[in-house]
Amino acid sequence: MSSANSTDSPLEAAAGVAGTEATEAFGLLANETRLAILLALWEAKEPERPRSEQAVPFSKLYERVAIGDSGNFTYHLDKLDGTFVRSTEEGYKLTNTAARVLRAVFAGTLTEDRSFEGEPSDFECYRCGSSLVVDYTDENETIQRCPDCEGAYRWPEYPSGMVAHADLPPAALENRTPQEMQRKGNTWIRNRLMTLLNGVCPDCAGKITTTTHVCDDHDAPEGTVCDNCGSVYEVRLLHVCEVCKFDWWLSLGLHVVTELPVKVFYHDHGIDLESAMDESSITVLYDTIEEQTVVSEDPLELLVRVELDGDRLDVTLDDAGDVLDVSETAD
Ligand SMILES: [Zn+2]
Ligand SMILES: [Zn+2]
Ligand SMILES: [Zn+2]
Repeated sequence: MSSANSTDSPLEAAAGVAGTEATEAFGLLANETRLAILLALWEAKEPERPRSEQAVPFSKLYERVAIGDSGNFTYHLDKLDGTFVRSTEEGYKLTNTAARVLRAVFAGTLTEDRSFEGEPSDFECYRCGSSLVVDYTDENETIQRCPDCEGAYRWPEYPSGMVAHADLPPAALENRTPQEMQRKGNTWIRNRLMTLLNGVCPDCAGKITTTTHVCDDHDAPEGTVCDNCGSVYEVRLLHVCEVCKFDWWLSLGLHVVTELPVKVFYHDHGIDLESAMDESSITVLYDTIEEQTVVSEDPLELLVRVELDGDRLDVTLDDAGDVLDVSETAD
């Protein structure tokens, strides 16, 4: 009957390997007074002031939270001290961890439902050249969609023609039109992508593990999406953060863009790959990738072939998406 024994705790059972540190952190947040303290410290945060002046003195914090029971207040403040709150000689501040938690909440919960569908986009479909449209879903995802072809992916829950898909917090829409959201959101997504491709989690800086997935019955004749894998790409790589379970599927071709010889190859043909990707989504990249496929099964080796003005760059990668070899063939 009594669940005083912590091993009976559904919270700890559910936390599994995340363990007691996670349950303690959630436990700390699950209290009205403690949340009031964190929000009051957030409210008092003034980024333009020097760090040394950002602490809130005990008396001021007490005033802000205003609960009229100083014993209880001190008890809760002490509980937060060291994890979400740091006490200094000048007073109390949020720790970086607390600030990250609060930021995630604010960025993800802005105002009303922001979803929209079929807004005109500045970008062109890299499959057929038509103008794309952009959707923003109630799951806080942005989808670029082609109205004139099958696109690159087919997911049962979305309209057809999807060419790109990414998480984007609703903060991206704050004080922006859907078109501005798309451009600025694209910059945000590209920077996260570069972080990920360098083996770093864009959410928590943890280590990324990458696995290769090859469609076992791939059939995507020109202009169609494979029924078996729902993609035009036979090879896709799954990136998962070992710490926070952040995950992102990417087509193989994207895995060459951080390589210096690849950037140089594009540069030698008049294309600044990074700014091109920023301005035109991934169109430039996919317009120039001729092939992305498996070249050897055991060990698994992958090939991305880029062609520009008749010159060819072959990039060979291993099953973790790491580059093994780059070779250039001039026209
Ligand atoms: Zn299209
Ligand atoms: Zn397939
Ligand atoms: Zn992470």
